[in-house]
Amino acid sequence: MFDYHVHSDFSADSTTPMEKTIEKAIELGLEEVCFTDHIDYDYPDESIVFVFDLERYDEKIKELKAVYADSISIKKGVEIGIQPHLVKRYNDLLDDKVFDFIICSMHTSEQKDLHSGRFFNNRSVDQSYLAYYEELLYCVKNFKQYNVLGHIDLVKRYAKQNSTNDFHDILRQIFKEIIPEGKGIELNTSGIRYGLKNGMPSSDILRLYRECGGEILTLGSDSHVETTLAYDFKESLDMLKGHGFNYIATFNNGVPVFHNITKL
Ligand SMILES: [Zn+2]
Ligand SMILES: [Zn+2]
Repeated sequence: MFDYHVHSDFSADSTTPMEKTIEKAIELGLEEVCFTDHIDYDYPDESIVFVFDLERYDEKIKELKAVYADSISIKKGVEIGIQPHLVKRYNDLLDDKVFDFIICSMHTSEQKDLHSGRFFNNRSVDQSYLAYYEELLYCVKNFKQYNVLGHIDLVKRYAKQNSTNDFHDILRQIFKEIIPEGKGIELNTSGIRYGLKNGMPSSDILRLYRECGGEILTLGSDSHVETTLAYDFKESLDMLKGHGFNYIATFNNGVPVFHNITKL
């Protein structure tokens, strides 16, 4: 199995050294782990800066690849926190860099962080959801340097109420934009840890993605500590099979490799 969404102490919100995660991944019998530390330019909460030294990151991963070569495969990924006004800045950053895997995530909307709840103030939950997905649609139309969209329905995690609307119309537009470009989505199992009924996205959105022809799907725990690595993966694989997915993807230098779910 492979965990394709893992943070280390290169991320401002994690203190876990990569070694600790790798040791745990070996103990769990994982075949591959992909570090996807945070770069979130212009994050609205100024008390936390999600930027790190990419050269040091590259060196560290190279070093660990050599140390653990016989035990586990280690991949270099990154989780970009996209916002409409940052498209050029991220393009400039990524143009001359090589990553195995890039997650494009939206942790903010209208330059407000979702986390603090500020984004949800003074409007209905439906208006909040729609504003979030409209911004995501803008981003996928304008930003192309990534492999999968991260936790596509993150807005649900921070909204205080549920919406009765499924937002499938706008989600379909997002999928119609990304699927022909060879991009995918992830199933992020951290939602379950945080008390959501399912991972992110929820089952109805996974089914919609499949109906739209989506094939590329990665599985990630979004771990910030080693104890949550591969969280709920076994159950997730069964659920994905039930929704008609046949493959889980991993990435080498941005190119997907497909693994038959029934063999995992
Ligand atoms: Zn994220
Ligand atoms: Zn993450």
